[in-house]
Amino acid sequence: MNEYFSKNYNESRNKFLEFSKKSGANIDSLELKKVLGPQKEKLFIDISYFGKKDASKVFFHTSGIHGVEGFAGSAIQLSILKNKFIKLFPKDIAIVFIHIINPYGMAWLRRWNETNIDLNRNINSPTFFKKEKCSQVYCKLNELLNPYNVPFNWNLSFLFGGIKSRLWYSKQRLKTGIASGQNFFPKGLFYIGKELEQGPKIIITWLKNNFKNTKQILHIDVHTGLGSYAYDTLLFDREMEEKYNFFKSMGDHVQRHIDPNYIAYNTSGICRNIFSSMAFPKATYYGFTQEFGTYSNFKVLKALRKENYYHNWEKVNIKHDSKKELLEVFNPQDENWQNKIIYRGNIMFNKALQWFSFL
Ligand SMILES: [Zn+2]
Repeated sequence: MNEYFSKNYNESRNKFLEFSKKSGANIDSLELKKVLGPQKEKLFIDISYFGKKDASKVFFHTSGIHGVEGFAGSAIQLSILKNKFIKLFPKDIAIVFIHIINPYGMAWLRRWNETNIDLNRNINSPTFFKKEKCSQVYCKLNELLNPYNVPFNWNLSFLFGGIKSRLWYSKQRLKTGIASGQNFFPKGLFYIGKELEQGPKIIITWLKNNFKNTKQILHIDVHTGLGSYAYDTLLFDREMEEKYNFFKSMGDHVQRHIDPNYIAYNTSGICRNIFSSMAFPKATYYGFTQEFGTYSNFKVLKALRKENYYHNWEKVNIKHDSKKELLEVFNPQDENWQNKIIYRGNIMFNKALQWFSFL
């Protein structure tokens, strides 16, 4: 197995702190309140940074907003930190690694956080949460997506429902309808929540307190679970359209939300808002999601559905089958997959940094 991939959250956290220290970074650990990991351990959002706090340009590399997807993001960060060239970047830039935005999710092998919330749909203003949100597709499929009992004929019924719903809706409508976020079912998949969660909140406060001169932001947010196996897609959302030259400069692998075969879905409240609208509303934002493919949408959704049922209703531990399945669909135990993640993660980090230094 690739040396940068960890077996669990604690291992990845310890390595991140160790590698950051060895490479001369400044380190801060933000504790999550009222929540513990599976070994009853405290949970932290760890941040390490290089360069001056009053830098006008700040490069953020973030991972693990979707908990279990953090194994890949953590491994990329560890490999970058291990490289001694990390210190040789232009003086007017600060580099900030936010290790795992959702440590509960990674520790408990979940995509969601401690209150079952999809944090990558949660970074919104108070007015946003007042509106009811549940697509017609989601509301129709709710019982299928979020069963209250272990269903008899589990696989068959799911497959049947999936096929049937594909006859009603286009694949894109189905995907967006299910995954773009809902606030009707608090124990359901892709739940947005009712307010900004504590994790993003403490990150935003930390950013505001520490980086007071930020004028230009570069941001890479690492995810897994969408797209072809071991292939990374660089996803640019709506708000980035006016920065067309920026995403052209990132070379191939690029997808814009207007591309007909866009693998993701339009949604509100994603990670970029932590930086662009919440912490630094006056700064210019450049950023993208680096999304590494694993398995098919159905396989991923099936694993999410199963884990969500067992976690919420049967209170299973992290050794349960449903947890193992979820880990595999977001972090395949395959050295070839892992090596490609490290390779492409480093290429995009270096490429983006180079672009930023000439800006
Ligand atoms: Zn994700």
